[in-house]
Amino acid sequence: MSKCEHPKVKCINPYEIIRKYRCEVCGEVMMCACDEEFALRFLPHQIQEGVDLETQQRIPVTLGFQKNICNSCRGLPEEPHPKAEMYGYTSKIRRYYWREIFFETTRRFADWAEARGYARYEVARREHPAVYSRFEEEVVEELRRLHQVSPKYHYQEEPQSVVIAKNEIEVVHLKADYVRRKGQRKAQVKCGGNITCTVEEFVASYYQAEGYETLFTESVPFHALFGVFMWLLIQDPSDPLVQLVSFGERSSFEEKGQSSRLVSTFLPQDFGTPGYAKRRAAEIERHFGRMLKNSEDLLWLFDYWVEPSANFRQYLWAHREQDVERARQIVSILPAEALHRILRYLVEDYWGRYLGWPDLLVYREGEYHFVEVKSSHDKLSEAQKHWIYGNRRYLHLPFRIVKVHKR
Ligand SMILES: [Zn+2]
Ligand SMILES: [Zn+2]
Repeated sequence: MSKCEHPKVKCINPYEIIRKYRCEVCGEVMMCACDEEFALRFLPHQIQEGVDLETQQRIPVTLGFQKNICNSCRGLPEEPHPKAEMYGYTSKIRRYYWREIFFETTRRFADWAEARGYARYEVARREHPAVYSRFEEEVVEELRRLHQVSPKYHYQEEPQSVVIAKNEIEVVHLKADYVRRKGQRKAQVKCGGNITCTVEEFVASYYQAEGYETLFTESVPFHALFGVFMWLLIQDPSDPLVQLVSFGERSSFEEKGQSSRLVSTFLPQDFGTPGYAKRRAAEIERHFGRMLKNSEDLLWLFDYWVEPSANFRQYLWAHREQDVERARQIVSILPAEALHRILRYLVEDYWGRYLGWPDLLVYREGEYHFVEVKSSHDKLSEAQKHWIYGNRRYLHLPFRIVKVHKR
């Protein structure tokens, strides 16, 4: 009798419906207990052996079903194994969630068929293809909604060259002398004389020499901007889904958890989801209407709301003075329409859109644009690609990429 707890397993073929896993410690081949009920009911011929993805060899199952084998049951993220784009797998949901779609559609269709007296699933499936398709549509739609709120898989996205070309982004090429510094995470470049600086600082000084002013941004100042201008809407006491939530004080967490004081604030249960924006569409319009009526007073309003938004901003990790100050500068630089688009973009899907914002805001009288800085072998992250698509579609902020090559 094996005493192995199978600490490390490898799936021999993720494209099988009933997956088989080989333990790297004891070498046994098994399936996960969470698939047992489905396998015995619908695919009993798949539980004896698997087919190795690379070698296409048949591998016998030696241990049957065991508990806590698959990633989900172990509490680990699921790796994506999308099907290739082809007939029947046209959307990302269908390509990434093919296995979940099959499981759930089969279950629903089988229940429907049983209730109509079919003894054999296959017969019902042959006789009622339209019913099966209807259940499948239903499942796909549910997964689409679920994916927006809590994605099980992160889509593998396009190479950055494709993202840049598709979105017609201007790329500015600069050259600099890179300096190797031991133990430094960020690349350093020569910045005149013996001074070295980060690549972002190098680009900022390039724009300053061109007569621009610059502001370092990245994502957090936008979270602060959102917190200050939106707290009154988000924490609306007349919203029936608003409730009191408590969390550990953010600053104490940063001081390496010295005190664990709790902060309480009011938040709707569906905060940050696309569903929130749909549910509250009318209130969101009203909020923007009131806020933008006197758009020349936005800076005054910002100052007025810094204090009452403090707990909400703390929840968003947008509590630092420096980030509030940067958010304030953004308000003073950008036109009201641009601020409106930014806040609307965030409120419609906060958790889907709060990352990937550009490094720099470059501006002078009557002119501004955002800049993402890339060092010679630094690639756009998935969040940045997502932001670029969002900017193209919704934000319409002038944006370019500055790439700093090795001289
Ligand atoms: Zn084992
Ligand atoms: Zn499992």
